Amino acid sequence: MKREKSQNLFNRTTGIIPGGVNSPVRACKSVGEEPVFIDYAEGCMIYDVDGNSFIDYIGSWGPMILGHRYPSVIRALGSALNRGTSFGAPSDLETRLAETVINAVPSIEMVRLVNSGTEAAMSAVRLARGYTGRDVIVKFDGCYHGHADTLLVEAGSGVATLGIPGSPGIPESIAQHTNSLPFNDIDCFKQFMDDRGDSIAAVIVEPVAGNMGLVPPVEGFLEILRSLTEKYGALLIFDEVMSGFRVAYGGAQSLYGINPDITCLGKIIGGGLPVGAYGGRKKIMEHIAPQGPVYQAGTLSGNPLAMAAGIATLLELKKPGFYEKINQKAERLVEGLKTAAVKREVQVQVKWVGGMLGLFFSDRDVKNFNDAKNCDLDMFAAYYKGMLKKGVFLAPSQFEAIFISAVHKSADIDKTIKAAEEVFEAL
Ligand SMILES: *Cc1c(COP(=O)(O)O)cnc(C)c1O
Repeated sequence: MKREKSQNLFNRTTGIIPGGVNSPVRACKSVGEEPVFIDYAEGCMIYDVDGNSFIDYIGSWGPMILGHRYPSVIRALGSALNRGTSFGAPSDLETRLAETVINAVPSIEMVRLVNSGTEAAMSAVRLARGYTGRDVIVKFDGCYHGHADTLLVEAGSGVATLGIPGSPGIPESIAQHTNSLPFNDIDCFKQFMDDRGDSIAAVIVEPVAGNMGLVPPVEGFLEILRSLTEKYGALLIFDEVMSGFRVAYGGAQSLYGINPDITCLGKIIGGGLPVGAYGGRKKIMEHIAPQGPVYQAGTLSGNPLAMAAGIATLLELKKPGFYEKINQKAERLVEGLKTAAVKREVQVQVKWVGGMLGLFFSDRDVKNFNDAKNCDLDMFAAYYKGMLKKGVFLAPSQFEAIFISAVHKSADIDKTIKAAEEVFEAL
């Protein structure tokens, strides 16, 4: 596979952008690779500057659930473009995206639109602290909630890939207000809340964890988070930046039947443009400025292009049968990968919730961050490289999910399974 142009671009970029990338995992360091520079993408395919093509399972890390350049999204962007790219004053597009989100997500009565998932989670935590008058936050090991200071403690995704527990630059005085507990550990959470529940502002969780690979909640885990936060007057924040509109139209909360106090969204709701959102019950959301005292603002928030792409995307997802279709595709891939692994005698754990999948190189079930970290990371690296060579574009880390889109055809999925079987054989 020719990689010359990508290599040249990477060499040019490393001197002027830290690590040559604008988000760490893209550097592919942990799998011993250099990044592929992209030229364009169409449907479920992505094309690099050297003319190689790949079946795309990154999907821009989640947003591209309709695949790339989906016609109605491109049309909506075109018509928004004709009316201006940013106003700094409200437009009807913001109202429409807000209405769509409120109608879709059970626990959201009022929503504030921002520019990224990081902003959404950061603002949700500020709101929870402002609302409760408490400082302490509880999160879970391996869950990633963006890179705000308060939340970058035992975080998954890129920080896990790089093997660092937190980050220099975050004062101890800030990190000390964040407690990170093991994901899916009901007893540990109970104990913690019985000891310290009265001082907790919020418990934030990815209801379906997608930043340590894919780890679904065990039965009773989300229920205990809901009941004990309620008991101790803490807020429950579901970070559905990844799972929102991905595992179901109403997000993980609709799938598991748990209503959080605040929900964070991002990724899919921007249809591939930068958008985030946080929302919840009116009584809580009314504390945000200018209605209330908790300050949060954004020059480009509610950007018309981003709103248009988001609205057009959610309109497609709302069509009857959309999630059944996504689930069928995911199931085909999951079953195929499982069968291939058994055939080639490779020990893997394959997990799946809606349009999110995970494949771990482990002979044991993966229920939390520790289990994920104990997977065979060298084997993952070899698998990643093998799949890339065969034209399958996966996230370059064991600690990331696989994203499927509505436009992955059976033939694409079967090609992927065949590639995996050949790569497993060579491991
Ligand atoms: C991606 C992600 C974020 C961060 O969103 P950005 O848009 O990258 O800032 C936060 N939480 C979760 C669960 C995510 O998957």
